[in-house]
Amino acid sequence: MQQPIQPVRGMNDVLPADIAAWQRLERIARELFTAYAYQEIRVPIVEHTALFKRSIGEFTDIVQKEMFTFEDPGGDSLTLRPEATAGIVRAMISNGLLHNQRQRVWCAGPMFRHEKPQRGRFRQFHQLDVEAFGYAGPDIDAELIMLSARLLDRLGVKRVELNLNSLGTPASRRVYRDDLVAYFSAHKQRLDADSLRRLEGNPLRILDSKNPELADLIAGAPVLTDYLDPPSREHFEGVCRHLDGVGIKYVINPRLVRGLDYYSHTVFEWLTTELGSQGAVCSGGRYDGLVEQLGGEPTPAMGWALGEERIVELLRVQGMVEPPTVPDVYFVIAGARAQAEGLTLAEGLRDALPALKLETHCGGGSFKSQLKRADKSGARFALILGDTEAERRVVGLKSLRVEAPQIEVPWEAVAAELRSRLSEQG
Ligand code: ATP
Ligand code: MG
Repeated sequence: MQQPIQPVRGMNDVLPADIAAWQRLERIARELFTAYAYQEIRVPIVEHTALFKRSIGEFTDIVQKEMFTFEDPGGDSLTLRPEATAGIVRAMISNGLLHNQRQRVWCAGPMFRHEKPQRGRFRQFHQLDVEAFGYAGPDIDAELIMLSARLLDRLGVKRVELNLNSLGTPASRRVYRDDLVAYFSAHKQRLDADSLRRLEGNPLRILDSKNPELADLIAGAPVLTDYLDPPSREHFEGVCRHLDGVGIKYVINPRLVRGLDYYSHTVFEWLTTELGSQGAVCSGGRYDGLVEQLGGEPTPAMGWALGEERIVELLRVQGMVEPPTVPDVYFVIAGARAQAEGLTLAEGLRDALPALKLETHCGGGSFKSQLKRADKSGARFALILGDTEAERRVVGLKSLRVEAPQIEVPWEAVAAELRSRLSEQG
């Protein structure tokens, strides 16, 4: 026997038994994105490493230690995308989509970060991602948050809290940053290794530390809100006013910063306490400087990303388990003549009933063994075709879930019979 190949650590299979929850999430998201006039964009999973260094920031955890970076056979340094925004901005610029234009787009797919795998934290994970380009006002910030709220609501996610903050402009943040460095430097002996590293490159990120031993120290740190300049304050008040207007509840959390450097003004996170320490299920914010930073024309922008694994897990924890899809009808086919006719009959049914979930038995075997499989499949009905039925151009129709006599139906009447049976409850 060969040794089985192991999966890559932190990279998961989504098995057929669990796929229904994923499909529902993605279907509802797609419907809502379309309803809000966002269009899908698909960008490569691999980009030049420089893209992420320039956008996410040299001093972020992602760039410093979490990227899957490799040299391709041509000697270029490439990276598996750790997030979607950078690639989407790159695509906007590469394709000239921002020249005197506004864009509302969404994107879905796998992201890669070399993090320590644990519940809700993986090395390959999936995001649904929404971005709007060319809108400077607080109305789009609010709309994007409303969209995320509606999505969570429609999915049936319960007990999530919207945390909101403003990071202001880079100028106002610089003053704050200096004061923050002074504060943490005065307490250097209490910082952990990660925070000491951040103190040099990215002190705001210390506020985002998940180390409980730092909670006290962080609670006493200066608050960014006190440093906002009047235009930043006005923008933030605008966002809050719009959210109040539609009755979306939020908590202003002055310590909310994000793990990526490109944010300015609005940042937000939907948090749950029901997934252990991996509490963020959807996060985003405004990133007005990024397009220019990546070589495009200055363009205000805002977006968010939702972690699909975390949402699916939260729905599971909250008892919103999707039953796996089962066929409506299992088609039992036994005998040489029946086999010759069976697949043709099945194709005819698929033509007549496009939504029909029909599993035809393949691989032969007795009626008895096939009916066992039919029962196990979860189907409501079995169609039964043996040689004698084939000869008479009829098929047996048996109810598998409720007690009812088996009947015989002529081939040309099967589609109509199934249509009416399947529309009945039970
Ligand atoms: P966290 O603070 O939990 O590390 P983050 O701030 O790094 O999250 P973002 O970069 O904003 O996360 O990504 C958006 C969303 O993607 C997060 O809210 C989360 O739901 C999900 N996510 C991020 N990293 C992972 C991961 N390693 N595994 C699974 N989901 C993730
Ligand atoms: Mg992270």
